[in-house]
Amino acid sequence: MNVPMLLPQFLDRAVKLYGKKAAIIGEKQTYTYSEVNNRVNQLSRGLIETGVGKGDRVAYLAPNTSEMYEGFYGVLQLGAVMVPLNTRLKPEDYVYILNHSGSKVLFVDHELMNQIEPIREQLTMVEAIIVHDLEQAGDGLIPYENWLEQFNTAPVDRPEMDENDLATLLYTSGTTGKPKGVMLSHRSNFLHALTSMHHLRVSDRDVLLHVLPMFHVNGWGSPFYYTANGAAQVFLKKVVPEEIFRKVNEYGVSVMHMAPTVLNGLLQYADKQETVKAASNLRIVIAGSAPPPAFVKRVEEKLHWEFIQVYGMTEASPLITTSIIRDTQDHLTNDEKYRLKSKAGYEFIGSEVKVVNEDGDEVAHDSHEIGEIVVRSNTVMEGYWNNPEETNHIIRNGWYHTGDMAVVDEQGNIEIADRKKDIIISGGENISSIEVEGVLYDHPAVLEAAVIAVPHDKWGETPQAIVVLREGHEASEDELITFARSRLAHFKAPTIIVFVEELPKTGSGKIQKVHLRKDYWKDKG
Ligand code: ATP
Ligand code: MG
Repeated sequence: MNVPMLLPQFLDRAVKLYGKKAAIIGEKQTYTYSEVNNRVNQLSRGLIETGVGKGDRVAYLAPNTSEMYEGFYGVLQLGAVMVPLNTRLKPEDYVYILNHSGSKVLFVDHELMNQIEPIREQLTMVEAIIVHDLEQAGDGLIPYENWLEQFNTAPVDRPEMDENDLATLLYTSGTTGKPKGVMLSHRSNFLHALTSMHHLRVSDRDVLLHVLPMFHVNGWGSPFYYTANGAAQVFLKKVVPEEIFRKVNEYGVSVMHMAPTVLNGLLQYADKQETVKAASNLRIVIAGSAPPPAFVKRVEEKLHWEFIQVYGMTEASPLITTSIIRDTQDHLTNDEKYRLKSKAGYEFIGSEVKVVNEDGDEVAHDSHEIGEIVVRSNTVMEGYWNNPEETNHIIRNGWYHTGDMAVVDEQGNIEIADRKKDIIISGGENISSIEVEGVLYDHPAVLEAAVIAVPHDKWGETPQAIVVLREGHEASEDELITFARSRLAHFKAPTIIVFVEELPKTGSGKIQKVHLRKDYWKDKG
């Protein structure tokens, strides 16, 4: 009989191969893989006692911490389903997700209890609330450490499981609307982890700093593939540049995944701080969101970190493509390499990715024709939780329609143009907001830029940029428009520029254009 692909096998392997090696390096405590496995077993026993069994949902509301990591394996080895919650939502969103997912137990970091307190009455499904870092029981709350230590560390009996069983219900970022519950199976996450291990060359020498929130799909996957290969893992609670540089230096961090907005913050910080030494142990930094080549250049030349772009979405576990520079492409100039890395690149092994036009035909390489990215892969979700209509709308004939638009270059690299919803249609021409933003980011005074469509009497829509300037820099609207016009076809250059202090972002650090559109174009949400 075939052995099913189940996620607990990743920790089993680490215990076997790397049992005495540091698994988790924390401010409070450092654990070896055997020690963390003991805590995982205690946690599973506690959950069994609380009445959690196969298929039950267990929610986590926590920043990146070792307790959250323990939850991954403690929940999954019982065949229960993990529901990680975005820490930046509002209490009413938690009511929606916890009830919608039917979560039976909720683990919360004590610093986030203020989000749960006001809604406790409304949580109709939650039977127990277990609080990380809580000193004393009271008011029906269970302190995590006291609770854990009652249970023994021996391995638990795992239920009969199928690789198609759900591992997680992950809610999407909500960049474009209400978060959707994405059902991902053990098989999807397992295969995703194997391919990621390969593409990112994960080694037992690696020290991963968990910068991307583990409640987000990208942070969610990494505890599997870094574990299986025995890397050490460090957790970051507060995503601020000082903290990141401190941990990178203190723990010899070798790899980080992060949103480009966070990486941008690190560059900005490094510009100001003479004392920031580019940490020499850092091997790669991995980010999405189609950064322009100038951005990649700054990361590689200023911080001396190798940059890898990945592209994916919650619905696909998440990664489906990555920028690949072949070993035999060493002759390329640095600028050519930066250009390649600014593209989403090629599909992961096991994913079939196509860019298709409205008739469903693949766009020709190097044609500059923009089409939608569709994907068929073992890592694609089972569907949206309790939402068959939306599932059937988005997975058609076995292909998941990403809603992302792209072109394909002469070598077959996929280059993201935009989300379908973000494309600006001006005088019948498609304008990629990402391309326009890329040009604005080249301007020395621009820290962040978001380009959206606003109505225009003659052209239907016109690009408007909302810009945050770098501290100590100035630029006028006219100057930025002239700058954009010097580098772009005129119809693509923004015609309006608005300066703001801050852009609205999701918990994973993405700019929420849906909110900007509400502000600047009230009819288009
Ligand atoms: P929601 O679906 O709730 O609106 P979301 O789509 O932002 O939120 P995620 O699943 O976290 O939720 O993000 C996936 C999306 O992020 C992709 O569909 C794509 O639009 C964008 N993205 C991811 N990687 C890249 C990349 N390398 N370049 C450009 N965009 C990217
Ligand atoms: Mg999405």
